[in-house]
Amino acid sequence: MTRRQFTILTGGTLGLAAIGSWGLASAFKENKREVEPDDISYQENEADVLVIGSGMAGLFAAVKAHDAGAKVMMVSKGRLGSSGLTPFAKGIFAYDAKTEKLSPEEFTEMVSRSALGTNNPVYTQQLAEHSLARVNELREWGFFESNLYNKAFNKPITERNIPLVERVVITHLIKENGKIAGAAGFSLDNQKIHFLKAKAVILCTGAGG
Ligand SMILES: Cc1cc2nc3c(=O)[nH]c(=O)nc-3n(C[C@H](O)[C@H](O)[C@H](O)COP(=O)(O)OP(=O)(O)OC[C@H]3O[C@@H](n4cnc5c(N)ncnc54)[C@H](O)[C@@H]3O)c2cc1C
Repeated sequence: MTRRQFTILTGGTLGLAAIGSWGLASAFKENKREVEPDDISYQENEADVLVIGSGMAGLFAAVKAHDAGAKVMMVSKGRLGSSGLTPFAKGIFAYDAKTEKLSPEEFTEMVSRSALGTNNPVYTQQLAEHSLARVNELREWGFFESNLYNKAFNKPITERNIPLVERVVITHLIKENGKIAGAAGFSLDNQKIHFLKAKAVILCTGAGG
């Protein structure tokens, strides 16, 4: 017997003996399902614009689409303002034309230079043009008075009666005639599958979504 064959044989035998002596072999049991497929119910909802995700991006997508006249619905696997990366963001930059020495164009050029061109200059320019107005809206909603964002984020959503479906994980985008026509997912709290139909779907699911 070669040294290699011996190691394999003794390793395997000792391994099995160890599992037996720990009682692990008898601990393995069938993984029985807790949810019966027949008990699953379905819920359908419809909107013009479906916003998926309830962090900073989802908040503004929902509010702005609503204010532009769309019937909006928001869905998130977590709670509004309390899921994704948004709860970690504590510092906010706003470009203020009154105090800023650089014009929006110069600002964009400077940011692009220090970012070695890895930024999207269109977004950077949008940041210069719109960030102060967004920060002022956040201030009005009580964002800076609380460490928790759920309350501040709720203000504009409830004021506008935007339906919010929380704790539903979206797993599929629904396609119709080659276009996205909604999304589907499951509830974390009950045996329900959600079908959300929409004319437009905005994915605000964050960096990991
Ligand atoms: C430690 C830390 C500190 C930071 N500090 C700052 C800072 O000081 N200033 C700053 O500007 N930025 C900061 N950032 C970055 C900032 O937090 C993010 O860029 C920003 O919050 C992203 O917002 P978002 O809405 O795009 O995504 P997220 O906040 O990540 O929101 C994603 C949303 O999508 C939902 N979602 C994801 N997948 C699904 C799915 N399948 N179905 C349903 N819902 C789903 C999540 O539940 C969540 O509601 C920081 C980030 C971290 C991690």
